[in-house]
Amino acid sequence: MPKRLLPFIPPSLRVVAVTAKPEHVMVLAVPRSTEPCCPACSNRSHSVHGTYERHLADLPCQGRSVGLCVRLRRLRCRNPACPRRTFSETPPDVAAPHARRSRRLHDLQRHLGLALGGAPAARLAHRLAIPASPSTVLRIVRAGPAPVALPPRVIAIDEWAWRRGHRYGTVIVDLERRVIADLLPDRETEAVAGWLRRHPGVEIVARDRAEVYGEAVRLGAPEAVHVLDRWHLLRNLGEALQEAVGSEHAVIRSVARTLGDERAAAHRTEQSHARPATAVDRRRLARHAPRRARHAEVLQLHGAGASVSGIARHLDLDRKTVRCWLRRDGPPNWAKPARPCIIDPYRAYLDQRWSEGCRNAAALARELDRLGARINPRVVRAWATARRRAGGDTLDVGGQGLARPWKPPGTRRIARLLQSDAEGIAGADGVFIARLRRTAPKLANAADLAVRFARMLRGQSSEPVPDWLAAARSSVLKRFAAGLQREVAGIENAIALPWSTGPAEGEISRLKTIKRQMYGRAGFELLRQRVLNTV
Ligand SMILES: [Zn+2]
Repeated sequence: MPKRLLPFIPPSLRVVAVTAKPEHVMVLAVPRSTEPCCPACSNRSHSVHGTYERHLADLPCQGRSVGLCVRLRRLRCRNPACPRRTFSETPPDVAAPHARRSRRLHDLQRHLGLALGGAPAARLAHRLAIPASPSTVLRIVRAGPAPVALPPRVIAIDEWAWRRGHRYGTVIVDLERRVIADLLPDRETEAVAGWLRRHPGVEIVARDRAEVYGEAVRLGAPEAVHVLDRWHLLRNLGEALQEAVGSEHAVIRSVARTLGDERAAAHRTEQSHARPATAVDRRRLARHAPRRARHAEVLQLHGAGASVSGIARHLDLDRKTVRCWLRRDGPPNWAKPARPCIIDPYRAYLDQRWSEGCRNAAALARELDRLGARINPRVVRAWATARRRAGGDTLDVGGQGLARPWKPPGTRRIARLLQSDAEGIAGADGVFIARLRRTAPKLANAADLAVRFARMLRGQSSEPVPDWLAAARSSVLKRFAAGLQREVAGIENAIALPWSTGPAEGEISRLKTIKRQMYGRAGFELLRQRVLNTV
């Protein structure tokens, strides 16, 4: 490759020779400066002691990796007062002392590492003809300059999970600039307080009500205004209410059982008055109505003491028919005798599978198919429909027979429903909640307090915070209220000021994404570098 095609090597070097191979270009170069200075005494020298070569990887050229072979001189220092006898020349803008790559390649690989993490950056670097191992990429990123962030004034402090439930760190978000201001590897009071002391410009701190951060702010930035996070407060309130609901489980079970029994009884009554389920059944009943009326008359006359012949004469019936009807317990159903059906040999099998709980006609048809029966699935479906209508089928909750049984809501849902207007809740849940409120007045009181707190926090009511706390102290939410006793100002600020830890949650999501890309291998410093550098 001719020299003129390589105008892009660092400007302090002069190209001497170029060796181009299909994959690699080797450039032999020498420094342009002629009189280097001694690093100890700054005296210039041109007394050459010897030469040596430094090999540096550089930016790629036309898809080929480029190696710089820089021929450097070792020079004698002629200053008799200087402690150094010799020194080597180093072109300052090309590479750091002892580095194996040029500065500009180092920068590029560092940015790949910051953007992608070790292994993906190494793979891409290979494609870009600037190969580096994952460990090298990570080492370069880790050794990079500490990110410089502007001193924040309003911050949010929140925790983030190294591993959920096991190990947590702290994230500090600059709420005015909406960027992560810093990342701490733990959530210790002293670490957070120390960070605040190093950043004295912080005036407002939004945080959750975790005592760790409250104490840290009081220690590290005693003048700062505390703002409790509304979302965290509401979540804590919800948890407190759920706990209260959980402690009333006996009452809840009893109310639920009573309501369930009532519904089942009502449903049975409804069923007994229900019209026949299908159009076919309705037509059959209509057809048989005159006969059924005559049957009723027979029974009536018989009850009044009339003889069989008398009844037959009176109703214009055959005597045998009258006798037959009187012998039976109930009215005959006048059904035609069942015709033989292709399914008959498998009825015992189907009944058994049905009683075992297999109610899926398609599945049953497949089973019959496996048994060698060549039966159209439609026939099996008709059988299953008939079987379902025959009743006595408690599992069949979705079909025509029985209504889907009501299931009382779980603890979390009860806590939520209790906070809404019982009249607005549809169906059995509404009845259940209304009854629960009557049966467990303590719970109703707690729910009302929760509603008041939420309204207060959203600025929808002007109730003073201390008043609410005083009311809550004598309720089942007293533990939640006690925890807030020291945080009155924080809650008032949460209502009055626009700040919250919401933006921190977004930044934590970004942090999680980066953390997962790195598979947790690269350590905290790398994570911090990547989070703070890729904003
Ligand atoms: Zn010197």
